[in-house]
Amino acid sequence: MPDAPVLSLAATSPFELRVHLGDAVPEQSVREALSSGDMGFLHSYTTGSTVDGPGVRVVAWTTGCMWRCQYCHNPDTWTLSNGMLVSVAKAAEELGKYRHGLNVMSGGFTLSGGEPLMQHRFAAKLLAAAKKMGIHTTIETNGFYGDRLSDAELDTIDLVMLGIKTWDPARHLTLTGKEIGPTLEFARRLAQRRRPIWIRFVLVPGLTDDMDDLAKTAEFAARLGNVERVEVLPFHQMGRYKWERLGLDYTLKDVEPPTAEAAERACEVLRSTGLKAY
Ligand code: SF4
Repeated sequence: MPDAPVLSLAATSPFELRVHLGDAVPEQSVREALSSGDMGFLHSYTTGSTVDGPGVRVVAWTTGCMWRCQYCHNPDTWTLSNGMLVSVAKAAEELGKYRHGLNVMSGGFTLSGGEPLMQHRFAAKLLAAAKKMGIHTTIETNGFYGDRLSDAELDTIDLVMLGIKTWDPARHLTLTGKEIGPTLEFARRLAQRRRPIWIRFVLVPGLTDDMDDLAKTAEFAARLGNVERVEVLPFHQMGRYKWERLGLDYTLKDVEPPTAEAAERACEVLRSTGLKAY
């Protein structure tokens, strides 16, 4: 399979709608990519991000996600074949061009998605390649497939940004389509291995703004001992057009972003357990 032109994946933001980039990839090549990890499907990459980990970062967005979050703002990343097949070598070569600047700006490389661990071998190889170049590495994940990474692979990841959506198991199932257990198990494993976590929590009015529920997440996170901060991300409607263009049933079209006061209330609940929350 010829290597993809990585430059054509450059995007100004992940909110660019991308579909069918990998439709022509033969089934056999998809299987080989998933099993070897030498190639993987990417939606796009952005440079200069200041919201996806410490400092200024290059962020690569993978395709493929096993969850179906009601408020997902990038549903075009759900399907693997919406991405473009790229080799680890080519992606690392492109990333290497930014190495000096990233180090000067105390930044690094973040692998996000979609869900990067849908392509865990590719994710592990790309993060290891970045680490080998002396670049700070971060993965942004829902943690559901965290057990796919070996301890040695985890050690090449400097920071895990873990999405925790809600505490209540039934609500979690409704919200995402999957159970919360594996995510929490991954968080515990990271704590045992003393790997740093930033938790990301999306505040959605009427869906995740139950403060008693958030307090339970906060207690869990505070007990772990390796959670450096919790980011409260206000829900927004920037992904709505993607749902509509993809013909998906978007149930949140009438939901307003939370107020600044509501976001601050959520931060206070988290801070009351000793966590840093922003
Ligand atoms: S885990 Fe992330 S990419 Fe997957 S559906 Fe949820 S918000 Fe979207």
